[in-house]
Amino acid sequence: MSRRLKHWGWGYEDQQPAPEQVAEIALGLRAHLGFEPADVDQPVPLEEVQLRPPRLEAPGELEEISASDDYARASRALGKAYRDVVRGFRGQFDDPPDVVCSPGDEEELERVLDWACSADAAVIPFGGGTSVVGGVEPRGLERAVCVDLRRLDRVLEVDRTSRAARIQAGATGPGLEEQLREHELTLRHFPQSFEYSTLGGWIATRAGGHFATLMTHIDDLVESVRALTPAGWWESRRLPGSGAGPSPDRMLIGSEGTLGVITEAWVRLQDRPRWKASAGVLFDSFAAGAEAVRALGQSGLWPSNCRLLDEAEGALTMAAPDGKALLVLGFESADHPVDSWMERAQELARDHGGETSEPKGEGGDSVGTWRNAFVQAPYLRDSFVAGGIISDTFETSITWDRFEEFVSDVRARTEAAVAEVCGTGRVSCRFTHVYPDGPAPYFTVIAPGRRGAEIEQWDEIKRAASEAISAGGGTITHHHAVGRDHRPWYDRQRPEAFAQALAGAKRALDPGWNLNPGVLIEADRM
Ligand SMILES: Cc1cc2nc3c(=O)[nH]c(=O)nc-3n(C[C@H](O)[C@H](O)[C@H](O)COP(=O)(O)OP(=O)(O)OC[C@H]3O[C@@H](n4cnc5c(N)ncnc54)[C@H](O)[C@@H]3O)c2cc1C
Repeated sequence: MSRRLKHWGWGYEDQQPAPEQVAEIALGLRAHLGFEPADVDQPVPLEEVQLRPPRLEAPGELEEISASDDYARASRALGKAYRDVVRGFRGQFDDPPDVVCSPGDEEELERVLDWACSADAAVIPFGGGTSVVGGVEPRGLERAVCVDLRRLDRVLEVDRTSRAARIQAGATGPGLEEQLREHELTLRHFPQSFEYSTLGGWIATRAGGHFATLMTHIDDLVESVRALTPAGWWESRRLPGSGAGPSPDRMLIGSEGTLGVITEAWVRLQDRPRWKASAGVLFDSFAAGAEAVRALGQSGLWPSNCRLLDEAEGALTMAAPDGKALLVLGFESADHPVDSWMERAQELARDHGGETSEPKGEGGDSVGTWRNAFVQAPYLRDSFVAGGIISDTFETSITWDRFEEFVSDVRARTEAAVAEVCGTGRVSCRFTHVYPDGPAPYFTVIAPGRRGAEIEQWDEIKRAASEAISAGGGTITHHHAVGRDHRPWYDRQRPEAFAQALAGAKRALDPGWNLNPGVLIEADRM
């Protein structure tokens, strides 16, 4: 049997530790966090899960590319947010899709979409299923067809001259990078979910990647997009830039499966970097580090990595000594050595009280420790769930003039909610991306949960945090998308006239309102 992804958590089934290892890891985590030991739970095996019977059957002509077995449906029923992992772990799949279709080419996709629309079913485009905002969950839908795009996984064309490639939407990070390697090119878009998320998912959610400055979002890497809508094909022209009216690319970028199914895109590539330098800079406080980051963000140096960890985050990942904030700084280039850029960046950091160390080629010491913690975090989260520990993140962005008050308010209100709901716990913050006019703060909450009530507890904490973000004028999401979970705050954030315009566009492209209903916009807008 081929290797299968877990139906509930992060990674493959064969990566799930044995029950005794789960217990050991979970107890170790509780001890590291200073929480009392608790019983360790084990995930409910798929054989014990009772799924609602499918309410829809694929027609014979789609039989070969359709599945309605428990694994197919359960593994596409939820995304990968903390609340999804908890539900999957407990075998709670209330709204699985009725049918999962996996088209292998555009003609098969056309047939799937025709059938699903004529059957009046909801159609949920599915990439890697790593959504953390309920973006792929058929929540409350009457009939739902999941369209899994991962068979569309090839790099179709490489234009070496313009340094761009046409890539199918279902290609995962490692899949597309491996195919680009033979051309000595790279997309260098590495979200933390890189291993399993897909190009189509990145475009549909405006994902944020590896670069902490300059080319932060996938938006910056997209040259043109091709998508199938119920009203027909949508393909934008390949251009390095254009001033011809509102952008057809931009309309699809961030559309979260509500306007069309993205099948491929031309993306801007880079030569593989030959020169790299990274260094950790320690600060006495997060506020001092933030001042240095502002100077760096406005310097025109454009570091590829510029991630500032507050004292709590530095301690949690064991990347920084107690009481210190850590700035992880990196530069890379395929064209030239980057030492002078690093030297100038370190000088700027020292001007703001930073303690610098010798830069490393690939990042050792604190930088390596932080990177390792970053890559391992999603795997560890499954063990957090087993150990009854609430662990999730939320993120935003804000301009520098409001940053200090904003972060301290969001932190205080989230901490208050954690204390009220869980008794104790930690809220930490880091910057994931930095712009000349402001940072993207990213918060992590870790707290002991009450068995069986973890989701309600987390929802309450998240609600308090979202209210604080909204009240402070930040965005409800910098790169995690809107999905179903961020809707109340997204609805407040966008101008009303824009909501009307978006509903009008949806009605034109998707008159039956089949594509991912409940995400971004409500049917009753028209
Ligand atoms: C541990 C972890 C770390 C993460 N780190 C990051 C990060 O660093 N940066 C970041 O931006 N996000 C991150 N995310 C969130 C998530 O990985 C991103 O939103 C990602 O872009 C989703 O890609 P996917 O292929 O998994 O899409 P899915 O989860 O399958 O889908 C997400 C949304 O896009 C739509 N969609 C998917 N494919 C298509 C398509 N081909 N056409 C039309 N619509 C489509 C879906 O309908 C859904 O609304 C993280 C998530 C987890 C669990």
